[in-house]
Amino acid sequence: MSNRFDAVVIGTGQSGPSLAARLSGAGMRVAIVERKRFGGTCVNTGCVPTKALVASAYAAQLARRAAEYGVRIPGEVGVDMKRVKQRKDAISERSSRDLEAWLRGLANCRVIEGHARFEAPQRVSVNGEQLTAERIFINVGARALVAPMPGLEQIGYLTNSSMMDVDFLPEHLVIVGGSYIGLEFGQMYRRFGSRVTIVEKGARLIAREDEDVTQGVLEILRNEGVEVELGAECMSVEKRDARIAVRLDCAGGAREVVGSHLLLAVGRVPNTGDLGLDKAGVEVDARGYIKVDDELRTGVPGIWALGDCNGRGAFTHTSYNDYEIVADNLLNGDRRSVRDRITAYGLFIDPPLGRAGMTDEEVRRSGRKALVGKRPMARVGRAIEKGETQGFMKICVDADTRQILGAAILGVGGDEAVHSLLDAMYAKAPYTTVQRAVHIHPTVSELLPTLLGELRPLA
Ligand SMILES: Cc1cc2nc3c(=O)[nH]c(=O)nc-3n(C[C@H](O)[C@H](O)[C@H](O)COP(=O)(O)OP(=O)(O)OC[C@H]3O[C@@H](n4cnc5c(N)ncnc54)[C@H](O)[C@@H]3O)c2cc1C
Repeated sequence: MSNRFDAVVIGTGQSGPSLAARLSGAGMRVAIVERKRFGGTCVNTGCVPTKALVASAYAAQLARRAAEYGVRIPGEVGVDMKRVKQRKDAISERSSRDLEAWLRGLANCRVIEGHARFEAPQRVSVNGEQLTAERIFINVGARALVAPMPGLEQIGYLTNSSMMDVDFLPEHLVIVGGSYIGLEFGQMYRRFGSRVTIVEKGARLIAREDEDVTQGVLEILRNEGVEVELGAECMSVEKRDARIAVRLDCAGGAREVVGSHLLLAVGRVPNTGDLGLDKAGVEVDARGYIKVDDELRTGVPGIWALGDCNGRGAFTHTSYNDYEIVADNLLNGDRRSVRDRITAYGLFIDPPLGRAGMTDEEVRRSGRKALVGKRPMARVGRAIEKGETQGFMKICVDADTRQILGAAILGVGGDEAVHSLLDAMYAKAPYTTVQRAVHIHPTVSELLPTLLGELRPLA
Protein backbone atom coordinates (compact mmCIF):
# COMPACT_ATOMS: atom_id res chain seq x y z
CA MET A 1 0.00 0.00 0.00
CA SER A 2 1.17 3.55 -0.66
CA ASN A 3 1.28 6.01 2.23
CA ARG A 4 -1.80 7.92 1.06
CA PHE A 5 -4.90 6.92 2.99
CA ASP A 6 -8.50 7.97 3.31
CA ALA A 7 -8.15 7.87 7.08
CA VAL A 8 -5.38 7.58 9.66
CA VAL A 9 -6.20 6.49 13.21
CA ILE A 10 -3.60 7.23 15.91
CA GLY A 11 -3.80 4.86 18.88
CA THR A 12 -5.54 1.55 19.48
CA GLY A 13 -7.49 2.46 22.60
CA GLN A 14 -11.20 1.88 22.98
CA SER A 15 -12.36 3.88 19.96
CA GLY A 16 -9.56 3.66 17.37
CA PRO A 17 -9.80 -0.01 16.43
CA SER A 18 -13.60 -0.07 16.03
CA LEU A 19 -13.41 3.12 14.01
CA ALA A 20 -10.69 1.67 11.77
CA ALA A 21 -12.83 -1.43 11.20
CA ARG A 22 -15.93 0.57 10.42
CA LEU A 23 -14.17 2.95 8.03
CA SER A 24 -12.24 0.21 6.23
CA GLY A 25 -15.44 -1.83 6.06
CA ALA A 26 -17.04 1.11 4.30
CA GLY A 27 -14.34 0.90 1.64
CA MET A 28 -11.92 3.54 2.92
CA ARG A 29 -8.17 2.88 2.91
CA VAL A 30 -7.19 3.15 6.56
CA ALA A 31 -3.94 3.14 8.53
CA ILE A 32 -3.97 2.59 12.29
CA VAL A 33 -0.86 3.36 14.33
CA GLU A 34 0.08 2.00 17.76
CA ARG A 35 3.28 2.80 19.61
CA LYS A 36 3.00 0.31 22.43
CA ARG A 37 0.53 -2.46 23.22
CA PHE A 38 -2.61 -3.07 21.23
CA GLY A 39 -5.72 -2.21 23.22
CA GLY A 40 -4.18 0.67 25.16
CA THR A 41 -4.89 1.40 28.80
CA CYS A 42 -8.07 -0.59 29.36
CA VAL A 43 -6.70 -3.83 28.02
CA ASN A 44 -3.13 -3.61 29.30
CA THR A 45 -2.93 -1.47 32.43
CA GLY A 46 -6.52 -0.43 33.26
CA CYS A 47 -9.94 -2.04 33.41
CA VAL A 48 -9.16 -5.56 32.23
CA PRO A 49 -6.14 -6.39 34.42
CA THR A 50 -7.50 -4.55 37.47
CA LYS A 51 -10.82 -6.36 37.28
CA ALA A 52 -8.95 -9.66 36.92
CA LEU A 53 -7.02 -8.74 40.09
CA VAL A 54 -10.23 -7.67 41.84
CA ALA A 55 -11.61 -11.14 41.07
CA SER A 56 -8.59 -12.82 42.69
CA ALA A 57 -8.95 -10.55 45.70
CA TYR A 58 -12.65 -11.43 45.94
CA ALA A 59 -11.81 -15.14 45.91
CA ALA A 60 -9.33 -14.64 48.75
CA GLN A 61 -11.83 -12.68 50.79
CA LEU A 62 -14.62 -15.18 50.26
CA ALA A 63 -12.27 -18.02 51.20
CA ARG A 64 -11.46 -16.20 54.45
CA ARG A 65 -15.18 -15.87 55.13
CA ALA A 66 -15.92 -19.46 54.15
CA ALA A 67 -16.83 -20.53 57.69
CA GLU A 68 -19.68 -17.96 57.69
CA TYR A 69 -21.23 -20.00 54.90
CA GLY A 70 -20.62 -23.31 56.62
CA VAL A 71 -17.69 -24.15 54.40
CA ARG A 72 -14.52 -25.54 55.97
CA ILE A 73 -11.15 -24.57 54.55
CA PRO A 74 -8.48 -26.16 56.71
CA GLY A 75 -5.51 -23.92 57.50
CA GLU A 76 -4.92 -20.31 56.60
CA VAL A 77 -5.94 -18.86 53.26
CA GLY A 78 -2.83 -17.97 51.30
CA VAL A 79 -2.44 -15.88 48.16
CA ASP A 80 0.13 -16.82 45.53
CA MET A 81 0.95 -13.47 43.99
CA LYS A 82 2.85 -15.02 41.10
CA ARG A 83 -0.25 -17.03 40.14
CA VAL A 84 -2.46 -13.99 40.62
CA LYS A 85 -0.25 -12.06 38.22
CA GLN A 86 -0.11 -14.94 35.72
CA ARG A 87 -3.88 -15.13 35.64
CA LYS A 88 -4.17 -11.39 35.16
CA ASP A 89 -1.48 -11.39 32.44
CA ALA A 90 -3.16 -14.24 30.56
CA ILE A 91 -6.47 -12.36 30.46
CA SER A 92 -4.89 -9.07 29.38
CA GLU A 93 -2.49 -10.58 26.88
CA ARG A 94 -5.20 -12.58 25.19
CA SER A 95 -7.36 -9.51 24.85
CA SER A 96 -4.49 -7.51 23.35
CA ARG A 97 -3.42 -10.34 21.05
CA ASP A 98 -6.97 -10.92 19.78
CA LEU A 99 -7.38 -7.23 19.05
CA GLU A 100 -4.10 -7.09 17.14
CA ALA A 101 -5.01 -10.18 15.11
CA TRP A 102 -8.43 -8.73 14.34
CA LEU A 103 -6.93 -5.44 13.15
CA ARG A 104 -4.31 -7.18 11.03
CA GLY A 105 -7.03 -9.24 9.41
CA LEU A 106 -9.12 -6.26 8.31
CA ALA A 107 -9.28 -5.63 4.58
CA ASN A 108 -8.22 -2.10 3.52
CA CYS A 109 -6.50 -1.51 6.84
CA ARG A 110 -2.76 -1.23 7.40
CA VAL A 111 -1.46 -1.66 10.93
CA ILE A 112 1.69 0.30 11.72
CA GLU A 113 3.69 -0.01 14.93
CA GLY A 114 5.43 3.19 15.93
CA HIS A 115 4.96 6.66 17.35
CA ALA A 116 2.78 8.93 15.21
CA ARG A 117 3.46 12.65 15.11
CA PHE A 118 1.73 15.37 13.08
CA GLU A 119 3.83 17.14 10.47
CA ALA A 120 0.92 19.10 8.98
CA PRO A 121 -2.89 19.07 9.29
CA GLN A 122 -3.23 16.13 6.90
CA ARG A 123 0.11 14.47 7.45
CA VAL A 124 1.66 12.38 10.21
CA SER A 125 5.04 10.70 10.35
CA VAL A 126 5.70 7.24 11.79
CA ASN A 127 9.15 5.64 11.83
CA GLY A 128 10.23 8.21 9.22
CA GLU A 129 7.35 7.37 6.88
CA GLN A 130 4.91 10.11 5.91
CA LEU A 131 1.21 9.19 5.99
CA THR A 132 -1.29 11.56 4.45
CA ALA A 133 -5.06 11.49 4.83
CA GLU A 134 -8.01 13.83 4.62
CA ARG A 135 -9.30 12.41 7.91
CA ILE A 136 -7.18 11.85 10.99
CA PHE A 137 -8.57 10.43 14.23
CA ILE A 138 -6.65 10.83 17.48
CA ASN A 139 -7.22 8.13 20.14
CA VAL A 140 -4.02 8.47 22.14
CA GLY A 141 -5.45 8.10 25.66
CA ALA A 142 -3.85 9.16 28.90
CA ARG A 143 -1.26 8.03 31.44
CA ALA A 144 -0.79 8.25 35.18
CA LEU A 145 -0.16 11.76 36.43
CA VAL A 146 2.99 12.08 38.49
CA ALA A 147 2.21 15.28 40.33
CA PRO A 148 5.17 17.15 41.77
CA MET A 149 5.70 16.28 45.44
CA PRO A 150 8.77 17.19 47.49
CA GLY A 151 11.13 14.21 47.73
CA LEU A 152 9.50 12.18 44.95
CA GLU A 153 12.56 12.19 42.71
CA GLN A 154 14.60 10.51 45.47
CA ILE A 155 12.36 7.48 45.90
CA GLY A 156 10.93 4.72 43.77
CA TYR A 157 7.18 4.75 43.26
CA LEU A 158 4.56 2.72 41.44
CA THR A 159 1.76 3.77 39.08
CA ASN A 160 -1.15 1.77 37.71
CA SER A 161 1.17 0.71 34.85
CA SER A 162 4.12 -0.51 36.93
CA MET A 163 1.68 -2.19 39.37
CA MET A 164 1.03 -4.61 36.53
CA ASP A 165 4.54 -6.07 36.99
CA VAL A 166 4.16 -6.64 40.73
CA ASP A 167 4.27 -10.38 41.49
CA PHE A 168 4.99 -10.14 45.22
CA LEU A 169 3.10 -8.95 48.25
CA PRO A 170 4.11 -5.46 49.36
CA GLU A 171 4.39 -5.51 53.13
CA HIS A 172 2.78 -2.07 53.50
CA LEU A 173 1.40 -0.35 50.40
CA VAL A 174 0.85 3.38 50.78
CA ILE A 175 -1.48 4.75 48.10
CA VAL A 176 -1.58 8.46 47.43
CA GLY A 177 -4.99 9.31 45.97
CA GLY A 178 -8.39 8.30 47.32
CA SER A 179 -10.30 8.10 44.07
CA TYR A 180 -11.42 5.21 41.85
CA ILE A 181 -8.03 3.75 40.92
CA GLY A 182 -6.52 4.15 44.39
CA LEU A 183 -9.51 2.55 46.11
CA GLU A 184 -9.61 -0.46 43.79
CA PHE A 185 -5.90 -1.15 44.30
CA GLY A 186 -6.23 -0.46 48.04
CA GLN A 187 -8.93 -3.00 48.72
CA MET A 188 -7.42 -5.64 46.45
CA TYR A 189 -3.97 -5.47 48.07
CA ARG A 190 -5.51 -5.53 51.54
CA ARG A 191 -7.32 -8.70 50.51
CA PHE A 192 -4.11 -10.16 49.10
CA GLY A 193 -2.63 -9.64 52.56
CA SER A 194 -0.76 -6.31 52.49
CA ARG A 195 -1.16 -3.62 55.06
CA VAL A 196 -2.64 -0.71 53.07
CA THR A 197 -2.89 2.98 53.83
CA ILE A 198 -4.74 5.28 51.45
CA VAL A 199 -3.74 8.93 51.75
CA GLU A 200 -6.13 11.50 50.33
CA LYS A 201 -5.60 15.23 50.33
CA GLY A 202 -9.31 16.06 50.35
CA ALA A 203 -11.61 15.87 53.34
CA ARG A 204 -13.27 12.73 51.96
CA LEU A 205 -12.74 9.97 49.44
CA ILE A 206 -14.04 10.29 45.83
CA ALA A 207 -15.23 13.82 46.43
CA ARG A 208 -17.43 13.95 43.33
CA GLU A 209 -19.82 11.45 44.97
CA ASP A 210 -22.48 12.34 47.53
CA GLU A 211 -21.37 12.34 51.15
CA ASP A 212 -23.37 9.21 52.02
CA VAL A 213 -21.71 7.33 49.16
CA THR A 214 -18.19 8.31 50.19
CA GLN A 215 -19.03 7.48 53.81
CA GLY A 216 -20.37 4.07 52.74
CA VAL A 217 -17.22 3.39 50.72
CA LEU A 218 -15.02 4.48 53.62
CA GLU A 219 -16.83 2.08 55.97
CA ILE A 220 -16.48 -0.82 53.53
CA LEU A 221 -12.73 -0.22 53.28
CA ARG A 222 -12.14 0.38 56.97
CA ASN A 223 -14.15 -2.73 57.89
CA GLU A 224 -11.53 -4.73 56.04
CA GLY A 225 -8.64 -3.00 57.72
CA VAL A 226 -7.69 -0.54 54.97
CA GLU A 227 -6.31 2.50 56.74
CA VAL A 228 -7.44 5.84 55.33
CA GLU A 229 -5.83 9.20 56.05
CA LEU A 230 -7.90 12.16 54.88
CA GLY A 231 -7.09 15.86 54.68
CA ALA A 232 -3.42 15.31 53.78
CA GLU A 233 -3.18 18.70 52.16
CA CYS A 234 0.53 19.08 51.99
CA MET A 235 2.36 15.85 51.30
CA SER A 236 6.04 15.12 50.96
CA VAL A 237 7.98 11.88 50.78
CA GLU A 238 11.41 10.69 51.85
CA LYS A 239 13.44 7.52 51.93
CA ARG A 240 13.87 6.14 55.41
CA ASP A 241 16.27 3.20 55.44
CA ALA A 242 14.67 0.77 53.02
CA ARG A 243 11.22 2.30 53.56
CA ILE A 244 9.22 5.26 52.29
CA ALA A 245 7.90 7.91 54.65
CA VAL A 246 4.94 9.99 53.47
CA ARG A 247 4.42 13.14 55.50
CA LEU A 248 0.83 14.27 55.49
CA ASP A 249 1.15 17.90 56.42
CA CYS A 250 3.69 20.65 56.39
CA ALA A 251 3.22 21.59 60.01
CA GLY A 252 6.28 19.88 61.39
CA GLY A 253 5.72 16.25 60.37
CA ALA A 254 3.21 15.43 63.09
CA ARG A 255 1.34 13.01 60.80
CA GLU A 256 3.18 10.53 58.66
CA VAL A 257 2.84 7.05 57.23
CA VAL A 258 5.87 4.83 56.69
CA GLY A 259 5.38 1.98 54.25
CA SER A 260 7.32 -0.42 52.06
CA HIS A 261 5.91 0.69 48.68
CA LEU A 262 4.26 3.81 47.31
CA LEU A 263 1.56 3.85 44.63
CA LEU A 264 0.63 7.16 43.03
CA ALA A 265 -3.01 7.29 41.95
CA VAL A 266 -3.61 11.02 41.75
CA GLY A 267 -5.11 11.38 38.31
CA ARG A 268 -4.42 11.06 34.61
CA VAL A 269 -2.72 13.22 32.02
CA PRO A 270 -3.51 13.06 28.28
CA ASN A 271 -0.85 11.72 25.87
CA THR A 272 -0.94 14.86 23.76
CA GLY A 273 2.45 16.46 24.48
CA ASP A 274 4.44 14.46 21.92
CA LEU A 275 1.97 14.39 19.03
CA GLY A 276 3.13 17.49 17.16
CA LEU A 277 -0.34 18.98 17.54
CA ASP A 278 1.06 22.47 17.02
CA LYS A 279 2.13 21.50 13.47
CA ALA A 280 -1.47 20.61 12.70
CA GLY A 281 -2.94 23.62 14.52
CA VAL A 282 -4.95 21.42 16.90
CA GLU A 283 -5.66 23.21 20.16
CA VAL A 284 -5.43 21.79 23.66
CA ASP A 285 -6.73 23.19 26.94
CA ALA A 286 -4.60 24.16 29.92
CA ARG A 287 -4.38 20.52 31.06
CA GLY A 288 -3.41 19.21 27.63
CA TYR A 289 -6.82 17.81 26.62
CA ILE A 290 -7.64 18.28 22.94
CA LYS A 291 -10.45 20.78 22.44
CA VAL A 292 -13.39 19.27 20.57
CA ASP A 293 -16.99 20.21 19.82
CA ASP A 294 -19.96 18.03 20.77
CA GLU A 295 -19.37 15.86 17.70
CA LEU A 296 -15.73 15.40 18.72
CA ARG A 297 -14.30 17.49 15.89
CA THR A 298 -11.20 19.51 16.71
CA GLY A 299 -10.95 23.07 15.42
CA VAL A 300 -9.05 21.75 12.36
CA PRO A 301 -11.29 20.35 9.61
CA GLY A 302 -10.66 16.64 9.09
CA ILE A 303 -9.20 15.98 12.56
CA TRP A 304 -11.18 14.36 15.38
CA ALA A 305 -10.16 13.42 18.92
CA LEU A 306 -11.74 10.47 20.69
CA GLY A 307 -11.45 8.87 24.12
CA ASP A 308 -9.69 10.12 27.22
CA CYS A 309 -7.53 12.61 25.29
CA ASN A 310 -10.52 14.87 24.55
CA GLY A 311 -11.42 15.33 28.23
CA ARG A 312 -15.09 14.56 27.57
CA GLY A 313 -14.97 11.17 29.26
CA ALA A 314 -12.51 9.02 31.17
CA PHE A 315 -13.91 5.55 30.70
CA THR A 316 -13.85 2.70 28.26
CA HIS A 317 -17.55 3.07 27.54
CA THR A 318 -17.24 6.80 26.88
CA SER A 319 -14.34 6.22 24.51
CA TYR A 320 -16.31 3.53 22.69
CA ASN A 321 -19.31 5.85 22.52
CA ASP A 322 -17.02 8.50 20.99
CA TYR A 323 -16.32 6.03 18.18
CA GLU A 324 -20.05 5.43 17.68
CA ILE A 325 -20.76 9.16 17.53
CA VAL A 326 -18.00 9.89 15.01
CA ALA A 327 -18.71 6.83 12.83
CA ASP A 328 -22.46 7.36 12.70
CA ASN A 329 -22.05 11.03 11.89
CA LEU A 330 -19.52 10.35 9.15
CA LEU A 331 -21.00 7.26 7.57
CA ASN A 332 -24.73 7.43 8.32
CA GLY A 333 -25.26 11.17 8.15
CA ASP A 334 -26.43 11.15 11.79
CA ARG A 335 -26.04 14.08 14.16
CA ARG A 336 -25.07 12.15 17.26
CA SER A 337 -23.57 14.26 20.00
CA VAL A 338 -21.66 13.71 23.19
CA ARG A 339 -24.29 15.87 24.88
CA ASP A 340 -26.77 12.99 24.62
CA ARG A 341 -24.60 10.85 26.87
CA ILE A 342 -25.66 10.29 30.46
CA THR A 343 -22.88 10.06 33.04
CA ALA A 344 -22.50 6.47 34.21
CA TYR A 345 -19.64 4.48 35.69
CA GLY A 346 -18.66 1.90 38.25
CA LEU A 347 -16.29 1.85 41.17
CA PHE A 348 -15.13 -1.74 41.31
CA ILE A 349 -14.38 -2.20 44.93
CA ASP A 350 -16.38 -5.01 46.51
CA PRO A 351 -19.26 -4.47 46.82
CA PRO A 352 -19.18 -2.17 43.80
CA LEU A 353 -20.76 1.19 43.20
CA GLY A 354 -22.89 1.61 40.09
CA ARG A 355 -23.59 5.25 39.32
CA ALA A 356 -25.85 6.88 36.77
CA GLY A 357 -26.81 10.49 36.14
CA MET A 358 -26.68 13.28 38.68
CA THR A 359 -25.62 13.07 42.31
CA ASP A 360 -28.08 14.40 44.90
CA GLU A 361 -25.74 17.33 45.38
CA GLU A 362 -25.85 18.17 41.67
CA VAL A 363 -29.64 17.95 41.75
CA ARG A 364 -29.77 20.36 44.71
CA ARG A 365 -27.46 22.78 42.92
CA SER A 366 -29.65 22.62 39.80
CA GLY A 367 -32.55 23.97 41.85
CA ARG A 368 -34.94 21.21 40.77
CA LYS A 369 -37.69 19.94 43.01
CA ALA A 370 -36.78 16.31 43.53
CA LEU A 371 -37.76 13.12 45.32
CA VAL A 372 -35.37 10.50 46.62
CA GLY A 373 -35.66 6.90 47.73
CA LYS A 374 -33.00 5.06 49.70
CA ARG A 375 -32.75 1.52 51.06
CA PRO A 376 -29.88 -0.22 52.85
CA MET A 377 -28.64 -3.43 51.24
CA ALA A 378 -29.33 -5.06 54.61
CA ARG A 379 -33.00 -4.87 53.51
CA VAL A 380 -32.41 -6.51 50.12
CA GLY A 381 -33.18 -10.22 50.16
CA ARG A 382 -30.55 -11.23 47.61
CA ALA A 383 -27.83 -9.40 49.54
CA ILE A 384 -28.86 -11.12 52.77
CA GLU A 385 -28.85 -14.53 51.10
CA LYS A 386 -25.40 -13.90 49.68
CA GLY A 387 -24.11 -12.61 53.01
CA GLU A 388 -23.08 -9.32 51.39
CA THR A 389 -25.21 -6.62 52.98
CA GLN A 390 -22.90 -3.60 52.99
CA GLY A 391 -24.01 -0.44 51.23
CA PHE A 392 -27.30 0.99 50.01
CA MET A 393 -29.23 1.93 46.90
CA LYS A 394 -30.76 5.29 46.18
CA ILE A 395 -32.62 6.89 43.33
CA CYS A 396 -33.41 10.55 42.74
CA VAL A 397 -36.30 11.66 40.48
CA ASP A 398 -37.56 14.98 39.22
CA ALA A 399 -40.77 15.85 41.10
CA ASP A 400 -42.22 17.67 38.10
CA THR A 401 -41.20 15.63 35.03
CA ARG A 402 -41.11 12.36 37.03
CA GLN A 403 -37.98 11.34 35.15
CA ILE A 404 -35.10 9.66 36.93
CA LEU A 405 -32.28 12.13 37.54
CA GLY A 406 -29.69 9.89 39.13
CA ALA A 407 -28.98 6.70 41.00
CA ALA A 408 -26.25 5.19 43.13
CA ILE A 409 -26.22 1.52 43.99
CA LEU A 410 -23.40 0.76 46.38
CA GLY A 411 -23.81 -2.91 47.06
CA VAL A 412 -23.59 -6.40 45.71
CA GLY A 413 -24.57 -6.38 42.04
CA GLY A 414 -24.85 -2.59 42.02
CA ASP A 415 -22.73 -2.26 38.88
CA GLU A 416 -25.26 -4.35 36.96
CA ALA A 417 -28.52 -3.32 38.64
CA VAL A 418 -28.01 0.36 37.88
CA HIS A 419 -28.49 -0.28 34.16
CA SER A 420 -32.25 -0.68 34.29
CA LEU A 421 -32.41 2.84 35.71
CA LEU A 422 -29.91 4.11 33.17
CA ASP A 423 -31.98 2.72 30.32
CA ALA A 424 -35.14 4.34 31.72
CA MET A 425 -33.19 7.61 31.79
CA TYR A 426 -32.18 7.22 28.14
CA ALA A 427 -35.80 6.42 27.29
CA LYS A 428 -36.84 9.58 29.21
CA ALA A 429 -39.50 7.39 30.76
CA PRO A 430 -41.28 8.44 33.94
CA TYR A 431 -40.03 6.59 37.01
CA THR A 432 -43.44 4.91 37.28
CA THR A 433 -42.48 2.76 34.27
CA VAL A 434 -39.80 1.12 36.41
CA GLN A 435 -41.99 1.23 39.50
CA ARG A 436 -44.64 -0.85 37.73
CA ALA A 437 -42.20 -3.24 36.09
CA VAL A 438 -42.05 -6.75 37.51
CA HIS A 439 -38.43 -7.62 38.23
CA ILE A 440 -37.03 -11.10 38.81
CA HIS A 441 -36.93 -12.53 42.31
CA PRO A 442 -34.52 -12.81 44.02
CA THR A 443 -32.28 -10.09 42.59
CA VAL A 444 -30.97 -6.75 43.71
CA SER A 445 -32.90 -5.13 40.85
CA GLU A 446 -36.10 -6.58 42.27
CA LEU A 447 -36.13 -3.89 44.94
CA LEU A 448 -35.84 -0.95 42.51
CA PRO A 449 -39.63 -0.77 41.85
CA THR A 450 -40.25 -0.99 45.61
CA LEU A 451 -37.77 1.79 46.25
CA LEU A 452 -39.52 3.98 43.70
CA GLY A 453 -42.70 3.53 45.70
CA GLU A 454 -41.03 4.99 48.79
CA LEU A 455 -39.89 8.36 47.48
CA ARG A 456 -39.57 11.34 49.83
CA PRO A 457 -38.71 14.97 49.09
CA LEU A 458 -34.95 15.50 48.67
CA ALA A 459 -33.74 17.43 51.69
C1 LIG B 1 -6.14 1.40 36.68
C2 LIG B 1 -7.25 1.79 35.76
C3 LIG B 1 -8.46 1.16 35.85
C4 LIG B 1 -9.51 1.51 35.01
N1 LIG B 1 -10.70 0.87 35.13
C5 LIG B 1 -11.72 1.22 34.33
C6 LIG B 1 -12.97 0.55 34.41
O1 LIG B 1 -13.14 -0.35 35.23
N2 LIG B 1 -13.97 0.93 33.58
C7 LIG B 1 -13.80 1.93 32.66
O2 LIG B 1 -14.73 2.24 31.93
N3 LIG B 1 -12.62 2.59 32.56
C8 LIG B 1 -11.58 2.26 33.37
N4 LIG B 1 -10.38 2.90 33.23
C9 LIG B 1 -10.24 3.95 32.20
C10 LIG B 1 -10.03 3.32 30.81
O3 LIG B 1 -8.94 2.46 30.85
C11 LIG B 1 -9.86 4.38 29.72
O4 LIG B 1 -10.85 5.34 29.86
C12 LIG B 1 -9.97 3.69 28.37
O5 LIG B 1 -8.86 2.84 28.19
C13 LIG B 1 -10.13 4.64 27.20
O6 LIG B 1 -8.91 4.99 26.72
P1 LIG B 1 -8.72 5.61 25.28
O7 LIG B 1 -9.56 4.93 24.28
O8 LIG B 1 -8.84 7.07 25.40
O9 LIG B 1 -7.18 5.29 24.99
P2 LIG B 1 -6.16 4.29 25.63
O10 LIG B 1 -6.79 3.02 26.00
O11 LIG B 1 -5.38 4.99 26.67
O12 LIG B 1 -5.22 3.96 24.40
C14 LIG B 1 -4.47 4.91 23.73
C15 LIG B 1 -3.44 4.21 22.86
O13 LIG B 1 -2.78 5.15 22.05
C16 LIG B 1 -1.41 4.83 21.97
N5 LIG B 1 -0.68 6.04 21.64
C17 LIG B 1 -0.55 7.16 22.38
N6 LIG B 1 0.16 8.09 21.71
C18 LIG B 1 0.48 7.54 20.52
C19 LIG B 1 1.19 8.02 19.40
N7 LIG B 1 1.70 9.26 19.35
N8 LIG B 1 1.37 7.19 18.34
C20 LIG B 1 0.83 5.93 18.36
N9 LIG B 1 0.15 5.44 19.39
C21 LIG B 1 -0.04 6.25 20.47
C22 LIG B 1 -1.10 4.28 23.35
O14 LIG B 1 0.06 3.47 23.34
C23 LIG B 1 -2.36 3.51 23.67
O15 LIG B 1 -2.24 2.17 23.25
C24 LIG B 1 -9.31 2.55 34.05
C25 LIG B 1 -8.08 3.20 33.95
C26 LIG B 1 -7.06 2.82 34.79
C27 LIG B 1 -5.74 3.52 34.64
